[in-house]
Amino acid sequence: MRLIILGPPGAGKGTQSEFIVEHTGALHLSTGDIFRENIKNGTPLGKRAKEYMDRGALVPDEVVNDIVTDRIKSMGPEGSFLLDGFPRTVNQAVALDGALEEIGVTLDCVININVDKEALIQRIVGRRVCPTCGKSYHVTHFPPKVDGVCDDDGTQLIQRDDDQEETVRHRIDVYERQTTPLIDYYKAQDNLVDIDGNQSVQEVKDRILAALQGVQRA
Ligand code: ADP
Ligand code: ADP
Repeated sequence: MRLIILGPPGAGKGTQSEFIVEHTGALHLSTGDIFRENIKNGTPLGKRAKEYMDRGALVPDEVVNDIVTDRIKSMGPEGSFLLDGFPRTVNQAVALDGALEEIGVTLDCVININVDKEALIQRIVGRRVCPTCGKSYHVTHFPPKVDGVCDDDGTQLIQRDDDQEETVRHRIDVYERQTTPLIDYYKAQDNLVDIDGNQSVQEVKDRILAALQGVQRA
């Protein structure tokens, strides 16, 4: 399947992506994870991205677009993927459409998760992530089995540098200004599915998987 998961910072995209890839076998492509991996490895891309990420700004489209479109094109028409954190601007969505057109395919579904703003802030401030596999936890809403340690690989969890309240508020503003136009963009393509993300992790998962069943049957 060719999927996008859309929603503001803290909506639960990363958390739900794990369930979606388990269910569909799609490859999880998270631009945030790609940047964090590059920062960890000290690459030129990582250095460039960090300047923007630390202040909660978007990395410029010309840096992001090729990374994603090259991967999509290299997968070819049989590629099955879930894009998480991309596209984030209309320009990125247009670049993605160009790549899909080149390989002769279209998107199957854009899952749009909606969550109230104050809940987003609470979620992000309490977020802890695994620096090895990228899995997200929450200190109270979604804790690991053993305090402070990743369930999957035992790595010590950390707080992301950009998960401070002030940066988070700015990232949410950036989302509202630059990314919400994508909701109408994908509505016009008739493949947007709205999901109420204010529910528990399990309830949101059930709703998304039910929505995807409908897509698979279509
Ligand atoms: P995103 O990738 O959209 O930024 P994450 O999946 O990392 O969001 O989730 C943000 C934080 O909120 C994490 O701490 C996660 O454990 C927590 N979280 C995710 N989904 C829910 C939910 N449905 N209810 C409460 N907390 C959640
Ligand atoms: P969240 O879901 O919490 O916003 P992400 O991990 O998706 O976090 O992104 C973290 C940061 O990486 C963003 O604030 C932004 O600086 C950068 N980033 C990730 N994806 C993109 C993108 N598609 N375009 C521009 N910047 C991006």
